[in-house]
Amino acid sequence: MRFPLALSAKIAGHIIKHKLRKTPRFAMVLQLEPLHTCNLTCTGCGRIREYSTSLKDMVPLDKCLSAAEECDAPMVSICGGEPLIYPKIEELVNGVLAQGRIVYVCTNGMFMRKKMKDYLASIYSPSLEPKLKRLLDENLISDRDAEAIRKADAAARAKSVIKPSRWMYWNVHVDGLEYTHDLIVEREGVFKECVEAIKMAKLLGFQVATNTTVYKETEVQEIENMFKFFSWLGCDGHTISPGYDYDAAKKDMVKRLGRNPKEFFLTRDMTRQKFANILDWGKAFTIFGTPVYQEFLAGRRELTCTAWAIPTFNIRGWKAPCYLMTDGHYPGYQEMLDKVQWDKYGVVNGVARDPRCEHCMVHCGYDPSGALGTNYQRGDNWKNFKYNFWPRPKPYAGGPELVKTVFNGASIGKGHLAEAKAAINPAANARGAFSRKEDDHTDGGGSCGSGDTSQRDELLAKIAEAKKNS
Ligand code: SF4
Ligand code: SF4
Repeated sequence: MRFPLALSAKIAGHIIKHKLRKTPRFAMVLQLEPLHTCNLTCTGCGRIREYSTSLKDMVPLDKCLSAAEECDAPMVSICGGEPLIYPKIEELVNGVLAQGRIVYVCTNGMFMRKKMKDYLASIYSPSLEPKLKRLLDENLISDRDAEAIRKADAAARAKSVIKPSRWMYWNVHVDGLEYTHDLIVEREGVFKECVEAIKMAKLLGFQVATNTTVYKETEVQEIENMFKFFSWLGCDGHTISPGYDYDAAKKDMVKRLGRNPKEFFLTRDMTRQKFANILDWGKAFTIFGTPVYQEFLAGRRELTCTAWAIPTFNIRGWKAPCYLMTDGHYPGYQEMLDKVQWDKYGVVNGVARDPRCEHCMVHCGYDPSGALGTNYQRGDNWKNFKYNFWPRPKPYAGGPELVKTVFNGASIGKGHLAEAKAAINPAANARGAFSRKEDDHTDGGGSCGSGDTSQRDELLAKIAEAKKNS
């Protein structure tokens, strides 16, 4: 099966329950942001800007757990900021799992190996030695790490840890191959660390997914190579979504930079061109999401936004109307459902009900529409059923030949600090690439993989230019 039976059955059961009860709106995935602090400062990240006044604030553990209960979503995506910085992340993951929900830990990958070493220390016995040897042989841990794991004291053994579970996925943010990804996250070595963390996670029996946003300048071939590589590494799934500039980001471009924002939009037409092959990707790789959403991305049908199905909860409460735009925060999920005028948002039959929604096709607004049958067409249920329950695509076999293509940045001395900086002119630098401006408050948000996409598009355009000229 493409996805584990228990998980697919849980989600299907949730939808059927609400359909039978005729619940008008209900949550499918909770985007839980326990904090907005991050160890990285990625170009264009909406979250570290929108919530820059509250970077030190955190949602207490009990509030996080009660938010999951309150909306009763079967899936909880723990994001941020970087959720592995949250001091009670282990208790949070285990608490949500204990509620019987599926957990995605959306991470930039930098602290994953540390968390997995904590796990190994908590379960160490001599029977773990073959696994430690394999980790050492593959340079995924050091001799010192192995010793620390062997000598774990009672406190380390008693510590709450994140363990492999069929109900939990590491969801690693990767927006391209090494060169592109390190450039976007503004630090060399991040892509390599993600790869090592993914290898270690697979070796220890964790489920791992990747999470990618496609920008205006993202090359389709690069995305295909990325899927092939991570499929070869044994990843269990991939989330992919088009990046999107919401209104505030556009205004910001005009006001601060004096640029015509039309130069940077990923319009619906452009998105459809980028995603023209997504149905083939869905056959070859374990892409998360419904084939109905994939048809929408490929331009074969229209869908209506169901942003209420993927609510976001953070330090300010329930964020409305969606993960991207902020028109308000509410103290309760039901209050948000009742008070927001949902029919003011989205695009219906190609007409934007809110100009800010005009070109939006993002996963968090439209993927649930495909699962919930919002724009049902005959055969959709069968299509969705077949996609979920048919055999899983085999891992890509040609990984070894891809390694040179994939490690095309810092590993070969072509990291962003060298060549990429030369590709970015000083004016662009001052505009935010390679530097985070604390006073740069875009209203809209995003997290790993979304935010002020105009900055990323601009950056990627310059890289493409530099590549052509080199
Ligand atoms: S269309 Fe996009 S921007 Fe508009 S409400 Fe839906 S998810 Fe948000
Ligand atoms: S995109 Fe994710 S990893 Fe990057 S700064 Fe924002 S929260 Fe951190």
